[in-house]
Amino acid sequence: MKSVLNGKKVLITAGPTREYLDPVRYLTNESSGKMGYAIARELINRKAEVFLISGAVTISKESIPNVVTVNSAIEMLAACKGFFREVDIAIFAAAVADYRPKVFHEQKIKKSDQVTTMEFIKNPDIASEFGKVKSGKQLSFGFALETTAMTENASKKMIEKNFDAIVINSPGKDEGFGHDTNRISVLAKDHNLKTYPLKSKIDLAVDIVNEIELSWIQKMSRKE
Ligand code: C5P
Repeated sequence: MKSVLNGKKVLITAGPTREYLDPVRYLTNESSGKMGYAIARELINRKAEVFLISGAVTISKESIPNVVTVNSAIEMLAACKGFFREVDIAIFAAAVADYRPKVFHEQKIKKSDQVTTMEFIKNPDIASEFGKVKSGKQLSFGFALETTAMTENASKKMIEKNFDAIVINSPGKDEGFGHDTNRISVLAKDHNLKTYPLKSKIDLAVDIVNEIELSWIQKMSRKE
């Protein structure tokens, strides 16, 4: 059966950002990009036109036609902005660093420079930037990695960032960053919290894309 996502334009962010201190050193996180890439592949299976904005990952980009690779949050935002107006759906699966070093050292910092403290400044929030300009016809999904009051915190993020739904996960054995498997719940504006058992990220991508289809159908039926 033809998916409602057939022909839809979808922006996806995936993977970590790298926030450089100097030309060879950066701050990053454990995100592997596996979940975002699996979602991109599942959307391509359903004939969506996918634009993947990826942080530095080691995953093969084979069979994903439109991939833009970036390092920092600033670069990721700039790459995404070009798609904000034209996409039907945006999925924010990247683990974007909240802060970046205030000063970028053009030359490699030397031990003899005795740099022992560093100041940080806030990075832009890509999902929130999209949330601010999002039209009534566009759908957005975000992710929340939570360790406490998971549903409550995720629900706040969903509202703050103007998401239609948020995928909740937590770090743990076999789940969260880096693993091939994950355990998720999906909180959507239009329906109750759904919890899925531990599965491979490839299988979960099918569940998440089913959730996207459902939210898309609900959004379209509300407009008519
Ligand atoms: O606030 P928090 O980082 O927990 O929110 C997570 C959600 O927001 C994810 O969907 C993530 O991709 C997105 N995000 C973003 N830009 C940021 C921080 C988070 O797009 N600077």
